[in-house]
Amino acid sequence: MIRIEDNLGRRFEKLRVSLINDCNFSCVYCVSEDLTDLNGHSFPEIHKDKHLDLDEFVRQIKAVHRLNPLKSVRLTGGEPLLYRNLIPLIGEIRNLGIEDIRLTTNAYYLKQKAKKLVDAGLKSVNISVDAIEPEVFNRIARFGNTSRVFEGIEAAVDTGMNVKLNAVVMRGKNESQIIPLLEYATQLGVKIRYLELMKMGHLYHSDNNHFFSEKEILETIQKKYQIEPLPRKQAETAHYWKASNGGLFGIIANESTPFCHDCNRLRMDSNGKFYGCLSNSHGEKLTPYLSNDEKLAEKLNGLLRLKQPVKFHGSELSMRNIGG
Ligand code: SAM
Ligand code: SF4
Repeated sequence: MIRIEDNLGRRFEKLRVSLINDCNFSCVYCVSEDLTDLNGHSFPEIHKDKHLDLDEFVRQIKAVHRLNPLKSVRLTGGEPLLYRNLIPLIGEIRNLGIEDIRLTTNAYYLKQKAKKLVDAGLKSVNISVDAIEPEVFNRIARFGNTSRVFEGIEAAVDTGMNVKLNAVVMRGKNESQIIPLLEYATQLGVKIRYLELMKMGHLYHSDNNHFFSEKEILETIQKKYQIEPLPRKQAETAHYWKASNGGLFGIIANESTPFCHDCNRLRMDSNGKFYGCLSNSHGEKLTPYLSNDEKLAEKLNGLLRLKQPVKFHGSELSMRNIGG
């Protein structure tokens, strides 16, 4: 088998697929519908791409997996629950022999879909929820009806699948929600991960003055609870702590504690473009090489070489396009 590995020993083991770049929310850090960034500067609108069809998604994943065996596939977006062939796609990925299939969602449509997703073979779900208080939540997601999100989270927990919560923390917007989110997650018996704000898409050229650091997140939690660090697992994006309320929380600190050195992720957007690193702003279509092992391996090795050695440096692509 042709070796696909870079000089830091990094390999592609996890594939993240953005199924659709459309979304029913417009989170302020991900997209700016009023065409301004968080500081009011204007930027170009995200246009909605036509995504690949089911067969084409499967063809791309199959070719990569054949040459470069994947341990897991995460389905994301945009909002992946808006992709209408999600259930058949999960079945097709399982047919390729990939058992560990995961999803990242805003949970708005999760209540009615959770059981069907598990029955199709979904193993775990990461749910984005940036606040407990509805007004704070709505100001970030720019969307009402928070209760549907919480119903979606609770329906996912009820199925027994692995559930994690993700919250992007922004100064002046939702740092007040760090403790309520930890307490909610603890009560539900799930992990929560706080994300440092990343300079992507419309934030790329901003001065990032809403950035709230890992250190500040830890200090906020320590005002109420004692915390104990846990060992980091290889290639994990988050560092984890146990809090004295019994909760487990992680921080994905791209800026403060970068984790590029053992990154094992490959991404494909809804157009079929592949990215070796979140810092790349131009993806590459592998379609012409799918049946030529040598060329495909060369291309995948080329994508691996695009990984940052140490730290993400931002990208003009929005997470909604590249898939978070
Ligand atoms: N719509 C789904 C959701 O919100 O979970 C999946 C796609 S979303 C782009 C994936 C993740 O990217 C979310 O957890 C979101 O909070 C995160 N994200 C988007 N833009 C971000 C940014 N600028 N900085 C940090 N995280 C971001
Ligand atoms: Fe949509 Fe997710 Fe981006 Fe929010 S973070 S706008 S829910 S894609």
